[in-house]
Amino acid sequence: MDILPLSQLRRRNRLRNKILLPFFFSIILFGTAATVGSIGFIRTVIEKSIDERLYSTHEILYREIKSLEIKLSEYSKRLLFITNVVSSPLNDNDNTTSLLRESFFSTLENDNIFVASFPGNAGDYLYYEPIQELFSQALQSGQPKFRYLGQTGTVPTLAVAAPFPERDNNGIGIYFLQTPMDKSFLTRLSPNSTYYITLLSATGAPIISNSDDISLPELNAEQLSAIQQGEHLYLSSGSLFSSRHLFHAVPLGTNDMLILATSAKLNELGVIIQTIALRSILTLLAALIVGGYVFIRMLNKLMQPINSLLIAIDEVRKGNLDYRIDNISVDEFGLLRTSFNDMTIDLKHLYEEKMQRQNELAVANEKLNHQKTIAQKNYEIEKANHLLQEHITELTALFQLNRAMITTIDTKELFERIVETLYATLNCDMVVIFSYRDEDNCLKIVSSSGIDRELLDGVTMKLDEGITGLTARKQKLVYIKDMNAEKKNLNYKGKLKAHGSMVSVPLCVKMRTYGVINLHKNRTDGFLNNEFKLIQAAANQAAMALENALLYEQTKNLSYTDELTQLANRRYFFEVSKREMAQSIRFNSPLSLAMIDIDYFKSLNDTHGHLMGDRVLKKVAQLLNEHTREADIVGRYGGEEFIVLMPHTDLDGAANLAEKIRKLISCESFESLEQDQPEKSLTLSIGVTIFAPGDHDTMQQFIDRADRALYLAKRNGRNRCETLTIDTDQNTPNRSDVTT
Ligand code: GH3
Ligand code: MG
Ligand code: MG
Repeated sequence: MDILPLSQLRRRNRLRNKILLPFFFSIILFGTAATVGSIGFIRTVIEKSIDERLYSTHEILYREIKSLEIKLSEYSKRLLFITNVVSSPLNDNDNTTSLLRESFFSTLENDNIFVASFPGNAGDYLYYEPIQELFSQALQSGQPKFRYLGQTGTVPTLAVAAPFPERDNNGIGIYFLQTPMDKSFLTRLSPNSTYYITLLSATGAPIISNSDDISLPELNAEQLSAIQQGEHLYLSSGSLFSSRHLFHAVPLGTNDMLILATSAKLNELGVIIQTIALRSILTLLAALIVGGYVFIRMLNKLMQPINSLLIAIDEVRKGNLDYRIDNISVDEFGLLRTSFNDMTIDLKHLYEEKMQRQNELAVANEKLNHQKTIAQKNYEIEKANHLLQEHITELTALFQLNRAMITTIDTKELFERIVETLYATLNCDMVVIFSYRDEDNCLKIVSSSGIDRELLDGVTMKLDEGITGLTARKQKLVYIKDMNAEKKNLNYKGKLKAHGSMVSVPLCVKMRTYGVINLHKNRTDGFLNNEFKLIQAAANQAAMALENALLYEQTKNLSYTDELTQLANRRYFFEVSKREMAQSIRFNSPLSLAMIDIDYFKSLNDTHGHLMGDRVLKKVAQLLNEHTREADIVGRYGGEEFIVLMPHTDLDGAANLAEKIRKLISCESFESLEQDQPEKSLTLSIGVTIFAPGDHDTMQQFIDRADRALYLAKRNGRNRCETLTIDTDQNTPNRSDVTT
């Protein structure tokens, strides 16, 4: 929050001005009130005094008018009396009455009263309507009637009409007496012209006044009614109420009335008011200047501590918490100063505490950040470790797989090792491997792990058949999260219920498929994302190893097999014979050998050509293979000669087998080619012998002996079997020694 400097504070908002303005306003208000009050009071006092004087003057005037009325009444009565006396029949002294009348009229004249009678000289008055009315009222009532006549054509008068009986006419006459009540009458009543007198009609219309200087206020109906009811009504008129009036009714006779207005001018009141107002203003100004000066000085002194406080607050706001206010006064500001100083001390302590806490907080924050960084680093390390671990697992698996695979080139063994390694390293519940060969055009199960192997014996899959077929054809890894929900799942053609999840990965090298590995986990969606990479890498590696093994096998086959008949060739035969002879010696088991030669084969070649001869050779080889035991080794010894090595077979067994083969071939049809042979069938000559380890029999001796037995068969007429042992062979010549 910003504190405004004093100089920026608006003038009207300053505290000094806020105090000064009411002060000045109060002085002016009180001064004005006092002046107005004084004026009002003075006016009331003056008016009261004037009213009293007006009243006494009015009383005099009232009495004068009333005495005039009484005088007129008295004279009218006397006149009636005189009239009655003069007209009386008892009165015959005319001179006396005449004197009396003259004296009476002279008195009236002296008193300025004019008399007229009707009938008589009052006739002229009758033209004037008010007089007509007066007369008729007097005649009707028989009583004298008074009236003030303001406009008779002459001067205003007070008149009385008094009816009297008229003896001559036996009627009633009227005496009409009037005395002037004009301006001079009024001037006489108020000789020093201090008071102004005005006569008004009963309706309030001015009739006559002793001066033209005065103007009366208009009377309203209410005021008129009050006056008519006999009230004394005081009214003021003119600016600053310069005139004062007293209105009062003056009854005339029984039913007429005048309003008498007595007025006085209040010229001195205006002067007094002006004087008072002027003096009041001067006094007020003086009070304002002197009072204001003193008050401002006092206020400035009073404001000094506030300024000190403001400066102090500003200093504290700027951060100077060591700032203290000097002793400024011993009043409330003094207390404020002490409180402020105490507050600043507290503030300083609080600030120091706050700073300390902030520092602690900053240190704690730094620690926290540090911890966060460490946690982040730890997380990254853990992540890296995890990745590393995964890589290690991956590498270990691949390494194991690699090691397992490089140690063998035998495909069968290789399949076994691939299955076992994947089963162990990927924690699978079952692994099945299929082999694919172009010539077979189908996938064959060659090995498995995690199940009884015999369960899946003979299961084959065509390309595109089931999940395995699909994998092989697409040459892409297929992941089935839930085998139960997979329509393509054939459950290994119903031989094994596969559930959970399965990864089917092809064994491919350069777009050539060598097989498919199916990895099973009992859990649904049991494979992790990072495992796919490893599985694919393992499959690639396995595929490459498999390709190598197959190539090797192929090469090996090429060097060990006879190309035409696919039987073991001579080289292989010697190798196997060596191994089998060693086995025979080691285990003391019999080992026999049969040497087979097709009879008159040259003739067949000559008759049907070499190609047909080859076909016959192939078929004979196939039949030999099919009708010998698994353990027997069938080979092509050369041309149309074959050899059969029979481990664990004694001479009789071997002779029986040879005889069986001879009969088989002689009964077999070779596309009717055999019909052109001398015997009308294809016949064999077979020489059989047995290995004699105890007699230091050598391989050469062993084979030569079989050859000699064959020669024996040829010599003895062909299409037969002959046997020779080391004992019976003494004089038998070799075939090479004899020309047949
Ligand atoms: P025998 O054995 O009964 O005394 O008469 P033979 O006609 O079979 O005589 P020999 O064993 O001397 O002749 C072998 C013939 O076999 C010679 C050759 O034309 C033929 N022959 C050897 N090797 C092949 C071969 O690979 N293919 C064909 N078609 N004929 C072969
Ligand atoms: Mg031969
Ligand atoms: Mg032959």
